[in-house]
Amino acid sequence: MTGARTVIEGAYVATVDAADTEHVSGHVVIDGTDIVAVGSGSAPEWALEGPVTRIDARGHLLTPGLINTHHHLYQWLTRGIAQDSILFDWLTALYPMWSKIDAEVVAAGALGGMAVAARSGCTTLADHHYVFPQNSGDILGAIVDAAGRLGIRLHATRGSMDLGRSQGGLPPDFAVETTSAILEASVDAVSRFHDPSRDAMTQIALAPCSPFSVTSDLLRESAVLARSLGVRLHTHGSETVEEDAFCAEKFGRTPTEYLDDLGWLGDDVWMAHCVHLDDTAIARFAATGTGVAHCPSSNARLAAGIAPVPQLLAAGVPVGLGVDGSASNESGQLGTEIRMAVLMNRLRAGADGMAGRTGLRLATMGGARVLGRDREIGSIEVGKLADLALWKVDGIEHAGIADPVAALTLGAQPPLALLLVNGSAVVRNGELTRVREADVARDVATASARLQSR
Ligand SMILES: [Zn+2]
Repeated sequence: MTGARTVIEGAYVATVDAADTEHVSGHVVIDGTDIVAVGSGSAPEWALEGPVTRIDARGHLLTPGLINTHHHLYQWLTRGIAQDSILFDWLTALYPMWSKIDAEVVAAGALGGMAVAARSGCTTLADHHYVFPQNSGDILGAIVDAAGRLGIRLHATRGSMDLGRSQGGLPPDFAVETTSAILEASVDAVSRFHDPSRDAMTQIALAPCSPFSVTSDLLRESAVLARSLGVRLHTHGSETVEEDAFCAEKFGRTPTEYLDDLGWLGDDVWMAHCVHLDDTAIARFAATGTGVAHCPSSNARLAAGIAPVPQLLAAGVPVGLGVDGSASNESGQLGTEIRMAVLMNRLRAGADGMAGRTGLRLATMGGARVLGRDREIGSIEVGKLADLALWKVDGIEHAGIADPVAALTLGAQPPLALLLVNGSAVVRNGELTRVREADVARDVATASARLQSR
């Protein structure tokens, strides 16, 4: 025993381990950053010896902390715009505003977006940042700093766009960088921020934006570079029928075939959306271990379609949940995304298309696997890091519900009593512990006004 000890007792514990073990009234013992005991009933006597913080969690559901596999935090500053557009029209409306971001406004947006994610149970968040205007300062550093201030685990990406409109891409030329500048900045991002250690709070991945906004050269070279640096790869894939048409016209390939040709399928790659995958693509994802970030609210907001998640899971593809950028999902709450995933997949696949507990698994172990962190986080098991969410399920929203897990997966999002990352409290009684929420809201309003009025 090496660190401060915390004992949580009396909660309904959904461990999301391989056997889906649940304890109607269970205990979890935390020592420093690690889970050292999990089981039914009260904590063992040894856990209560010496200084210990003891939490009576009766009336609560304890789950692993939720893992968000796809976000664009800067979009927190451009919510409520292009409300009724499909993806390509929505992007075209927003690019001019996004091209004016800088490190200062992104800092405010990242803190706002992550604050809301944390308050919805998120302990690990993957952010896909791909807009780096000239002379915009240290944007990636601002995102990393915001996660550090809140205390949540970050998988930041060095994203990119190098295919402007004059070259046949979708983004305007003023929103893109050169291929060589992107590759140089990618090396710099990894050397500054990537921590490969077990309890890392910051990791970096390389993330060219999408087939219609980057060159084939950038995709190919980013894949080689990421593998030489030992970091993961991320992009958007097969989001819309318009992307399918773009790839068919430009390359004579489906998006998956195109990305496959460029070295972009593998167990070190995860892609957002994957709505329009045919059987061949699903088989390729499964054979290569390529992961998927399922973003049901964003897909609904932009009328992109419903991803074939039951088929992906049946084939063995790693699938996690993502809120996507806040300009296409103004909620930004990961907890409610579980319910959305369950409901939307039933619309496509029928009543047995997705169980509530499958939704919880996507948001925890699924996300951990997609981010390559499944040995350290994603379930409540001895030897894993203490990233935990404690939900109050005896209040007016949920008192009397037959199944506490259904309170989270089908009901209103329960109040978050406690959120621990590496054993430290990030949210307590529904409020962030390390930043003043009023300050976060004020800074978001100021930065949003600056961006939207320019
Ligand atoms: Zn996205």
